[in-house]
Amino acid sequence: MKIHEYQAKDLFAQYGIPVMNGSVAENGEQAVTAAQELKAPYVLKAQIHSGGRGKAGGVKLVNTLEEVRTTAEELIGQTLVTAQTGPEGRVVQKILVTEAAEVKKEYYFAMTVDRDTGKLAMIASSEGGVEIEQVSKEAPEKIITEKIDPAVGLHDYRLRYLAEKLGIADVKGFIRTGLGMYKLFCEKDCSLVEINPLAELADGTITALDAKVNFDDNAMYRHPEILALTDPNEEDPRELEANKYGLNYVSLGGNVGCLVNGAGLAMATMDMIHYAGAVPANFLDVGGTATTEKVTKAFEIILSDQGVQAILVNIFGGLIKCDMIAEGIIEAAKNSEIKVPIVARLEGTNVEKGKQLLLNSGMNIIPASSLKEGAEICAKIVKEAN
Ligand code: GDP
Ligand code: MG
Repeated sequence: MKIHEYQAKDLFAQYGIPVMNGSVAENGEQAVTAAQELKAPYVLKAQIHSGGRGKAGGVKLVNTLEEVRTTAEELIGQTLVTAQTGPEGRVVQKILVTEAAEVKKEYYFAMTVDRDTGKLAMIASSEGGVEIEQVSKEAPEKIITEKIDPAVGLHDYRLRYLAEKLGIADVKGFIRTGLGMYKLFCEKDCSLVEINPLAELADGTITALDAKVNFDDNAMYRHPEILALTDPNEEDPRELEANKYGLNYVSLGGNVGCLVNGAGLAMATMDMIHYAGAVPANFLDVGGTATTEKVTKAFEIILSDQGVQAILVNIFGGLIKCDMIAEGIIEAAKNSEIKVPIVARLEGTNVEKGKQLLLNSGMNIIPASSLKEGAEICAKIVKEAN
């Protein structure tokens, strides 16, 4: 799960990580009110779930309250296209208004999970501000990685050592920042806490100028206060809708819609679609209880994706019987006006009865006898359609 910079900075402040004063605004008037509480000059920052805003024109330095108003009005409502948003960009709905910092040098500092060692990794560089992927390509020696053993925790001396290696003079500020990040990471079940840039200001102190915090979705049930930070404007509407019905849905951008029961089977189905030469439009696991209501909703969600040219239904009737599933598919197909061919591969209890029902339904449902065959039929349909 992702949150906005202004929300991440609120968390930073709670954990003692230095940030510039500021607050969020949704229109020019609010931006001026926010700026009146601050010292000029100001920085206005588009709040979208994406980095690279600076280069895309989403971070503006202004001097007067009048400029705050005009620039805020320009930014809010604008579609910002960054290196991370894709060509469609994101509409800016909110901006963060902060005091501008006088920056001497920009560092990079982040914590994430290192799955290979089962430890936390601190990643730091004296080359901050720019994208860290670029530094790792062009000057990998400038990236320092240090592991934190969760059984030992993070202590001052590790951060003092890191500050020295980076050439940071404000060692106290750096230690406070590092300990705050670590505490935040552990207490809120983060998957990433990133500060880029961590700036050295004209007075020599360090401050987090940007803030990116991602969370482990699987732990969010125990952090309702974090879940409440979700911004529906930033989520894929299909994924939100699917969540409501207990469907596990991820958009993938291809043209074969998938409806499968079980995450493992869904993975295998996507692999097989690729293998047959097509691209899955989505990952959709309807779970262990494929009721008619769920299957109908699943079809609706798949079909709201304009890219879908064929649907592959791959259901294993274990606890549920195939004829029941077939009835569910037919009912769902009736309810949701499906205009693309459905290829259905059913396996398990009462499979013959299920196939017969599909054949007799008079609908555009093509039965497949194996997953491979189903994927190949879909690939053929897609190929002919393009
Ligand atoms: P990103 O481009 O989405 O990662 O947004 P950032 O918050 O990192 O801002 C982009 C760049 O704007 C930073 O790397 C800084 O160089 C610059 N910037 C942001 N805030 C300030 C500020 O208060 N003062 C100065 N001088 N530069 C800033
Ligand atoms: Mg940044």
